[in-house]
Amino acid sequence: MRRTLFENITQRVLTEPAPAPDEAALAELAKSVDRAARAKLGRSLSIRQVDAGSCNGCELEIHALNNAFYDLERFGLRFVASPRHADVLMVTGPVTKNMREALLRTYNATPDPKWVVAVGTCAVDGGIFAGSYAVAGGVEEAIPVDLHIRGCPPSPAELLQGLIALLEHAR
Ligand code: SF4
Repeated sequence: MRRTLFENITQRVLTEPAPAPDEAALAELAKSVDRAARAKLGRSLSIRQVDAGSCNGCELEIHALNNAFYDLERFGLRFVASPRHADVLMVTGPVTKNMREALLRTYNATPDPKWVVAVGTCAVDGGIFAGSYAVAGGVEEAIPVDLHIRGCPPSPAELLQGLIALLEHAR
């Protein structure tokens, strides 16, 4: 015990320092999402996140958009608790056979106009979980997808860039 304590005190930190976030760039991206949403919808954007079977890595990055550090709600991006209040369904993970029906019901409960964003490589085609007996496939196996944001997992900045692209090209 004494030896472990001594090692912990004397050893240097083994992890690499996190890269410094570009706060100005993130704020600019978030403002662009809000501008595009107001031009398209006349109000700010509401997002319902659905985990259809992910490892939760993608959720960590999505939740980061809302944490005290990024705090993107100040720019009008809102995560909502019900699909009935959502403009965008942000779906993560491969779609498991157990979640397929729930995802379909969530999609049907979301009012038009609605957009589906599949987040992460697994949401495209099942990713590393493809071929599992428990996995139905990518999100497109269950519902129509308007945009794929690839990455394992995609960063908050990539998520924002995806939302801007979605709103700018949405009909
Ligand atoms: S894309 Fe990567 S982080 Fe996201 S659910 Fe798949 S394995 Fe996890």
